[in-house]
Amino acid sequence: MTAKSMMPYVEGNSAIRAMFEEGARLAERYGKENVFDFSLGNPSVPAPAEVNQAIKEVIEEEDSFLIHGYNRSNSGYDDVRGKVAQHLNRIHGTGFDAHNIVMTVGAAGGLNVAIKTLVDPGEEILAFAPYFVEYGNYAKNHGAVLKEVPADTVTFYPNLHVMEEMITEKTRAVIINSPNNPTGVIYGEDLIIRLADTLRRKQYELGTEIYIIADEPYRELAYDGATVPFLTKYYDNAVVAYSWSKSLSLPGERIGYLVFPGEMADFDNAIDAANIANRVLGYVNAPSLIQRVAARCIDCSTDIEAYDRNRKALYNGLTEIGYTCVYPEGAFYMWVKAPGGDDREFCAKAKEHNILIVPGSSFACPGYVRIAYCVAEETIINSLPAFEKVFAECEDVG
Ligand code: PLP
Repeated sequence: MTAKSMMPYVEGNSAIRAMFEEGARLAERYGKENVFDFSLGNPSVPAPAEVNQAIKEVIEEEDSFLIHGYNRSNSGYDDVRGKVAQHLNRIHGTGFDAHNIVMTVGAAGGLNVAIKTLVDPGEEILAFAPYFVEYGNYAKNHGAVLKEVPADTVTFYPNLHVMEEMITEKTRAVIINSPNNPTGVIYGEDLIIRLADTLRRKQYELGTEIYIIADEPYRELAYDGATVPFLTKYYDNAVVAYSWSKSLSLPGERIGYLVFPGEMADFDNAIDAANIANRVLGYVNAPSLIQRVAARCIDCSTDIEAYDRNRKALYNGLTEIGYTCVYPEGAFYMWVKAPGGDDREFCAKAKEHNILIVPGSSFACPGYVRIAYCVAEETIINSLPAFEKVFAECEDVG
């Protein structure tokens, strides 16, 4: 018999699969061009040409055992980790070397390694609603308990006062995600300083360690010259999870890294534990070939202009119709107030007009919806009349 503990996942997953299947069914019935699928955060910009070139070069120039073999260290290739460290130092003025870096199976793998490394079963992790739906599952994987800090629905920045009240001696970590999925908000330096001050104060008061786990797969997707503060510069007990899934459009390659700053509590044990966590969780090491490719493409970037055009077209189009949207500062998601107030109902109505979007309830924040605008620009333009019809229908009901 299948483990009972997996059945809630299976049931939850069938809702996502139903959305996929619905998309395919709608495309078959109405034509792909008449279906507006904004459900997934799958990058629409192709991986830069340099990535494919680097794959060829790695295959032609590097030792076959190196590119296909097990890594000597479960934390990844030393030279690759060194290149990541140098890159971070160049951009952020940090002082890392290879020992601070653990190569991971994307940000998802990195978050699981970070939680296993830092959080014991029964301990608590705080996350600010709305948050990436998988955080709850990742916490559960390691027997940890995810506690949600309710959303500040005025700004969608973390509500630090409520967070402070929720911290107990069981609180071991706070997950933050900036640029944010699903809101597109970027946490500025002021906010990070206040967050760090609050956590330092609580650590002192409770005599515990409280880690920040900064989930940053969207770090480079920041518009209008916005900068994303690098967490380890503000807080010693900060671990950063990065991935190239979005920044180089490589989500299927499963490649990212964790940064453990030397200043963090119990650094030597933490870095050894993360190395072992990578192994015992079954990742063993991050994929070898693509580690070597990432090192060669360390300075490459995606075509953020394409996402920016989509951002503006969608925001202008929707607000002209009457929708209330958070203007995204980063990532490629628009966070929109559900007309009529009921997010699930709005998504169901949108589907009747061939629009596929995700209810805010899936991000612990009902009343809103997420529109992933990592799509072709014409999908946005062509979808606006349908968005207008759904708006009218929901406003009539609401
Ligand atoms: N964290 C957030 C906020 C995400 O949106 C995603 C993917 O969409 C991930 C983590 C997982 O990223 P990866 O593909 O690098 O595992």
